[in-house]
Amino acid sequence: MLKIKPPLYMIGKKVYCWRCETKMTVIALLAPQVENAYDEVYTISGIKKIPDNVRFFIQSKVPTFLFRYSKTVEGKYFANTCPRCKVIYGDFFLHDEPGAPFFPANEEDAKLLYIKEIPLDEPIEIEGGAGSGTGEMILKHGIRV
Ligand SMILES: [Zn+2]
Repeated sequence: MLKIKPPLYMIGKKVYCWRCETKMTVIALLAPQVENAYDEVYTISGIKKIPDNVRFFIQSKVPTFLFRYSKTVEGKYFANTCPRCKVIYGDFFLHDEPGAPFFPANEEDAKLLYIKEIPLDEPIEIEGGAGSGTGEMILKHGIRV
């Protein structure tokens, strides 16, 4: 469980569905203050549990961010899905390969992401994975909306 203090950000980008090529939005979370972690900005992926208020906020902006079963990970997580063909755009392909949407290779890539703060009154807990390395660059160069 990750304990996250405000602020918490939603980061997003438009991509093309790998299966049907429909333009779709993919999102992830960005957390500058994760408790008991190093002083780093983390990108959160593979989300299995999230407070309802945060989920409602995200889904009000991106209704295709859904709790779905993934054959790849053999379990359910909040995944980005295609609005047309419903396929999952897996977190692995969004986070784990250099140059992937949430793994920007440089500032120019980071500038293609938008950042939106998720309103939070208090610290929250999220079950998911925290990735480090590029969060700071995203926070600095992403487009605030
Ligand atoms: Zn599709």
